[in-house]
Amino acid sequence: MPRRAPRAKWREVELWNGRWVLCRGLRDGLPVFGWGDAPAGLVTRSQLAEQRLRRRRGQDPVALLVFRKRGCGEQVAELFRVDQAVPSRTRTPALLASVAAMNKAHRTCRRCGHEFDRYLPTSTWKCWPCMEATGDFGTPDHAA
Ligand SMILES: [Zn+2]
Repeated sequence: MPRRAPRAKWREVELWNGRWVLCRGLRDGLPVFGWGDAPAGLVTRSQLAEQRLRRRRGQDPVALLVFRKRGCGEQVAELFRVDQAVPSRTRTPALLASVAAMNKAHRTCRRCGHEFDRYLPTSTWKCWPCMEATGDFGTPDHAA
């Protein structure tokens, strides 16, 4: 019984870091890897997102990950260099801090300064007891 020939021809490619690795051939000029044999330092788009990273502007894939998904046939994912990626814009500490500050402002009564666990009406920025105490329940703009 002869051994089953590999589907793709293995070949050696030089990586960006000068390392030589075996890949499963080239596709669109990019080395193709399978699950488990993609070199360290290369991740898919969704793996970048899991690490709170995103592609740098103009960052192109350096390799392809080819795998089979039950019922879907062959899947191809682009592989990117993780060292070229940048922190995701939507998760920067500065942005998180400003969102937190805004949330806090929306929950803090302007009169008594108490912080509530839900948003206060933006017409008065006051909690209910303070609105009752001052008689100011907020005036809709059109009635002013
Ligand atoms: Zn209050």
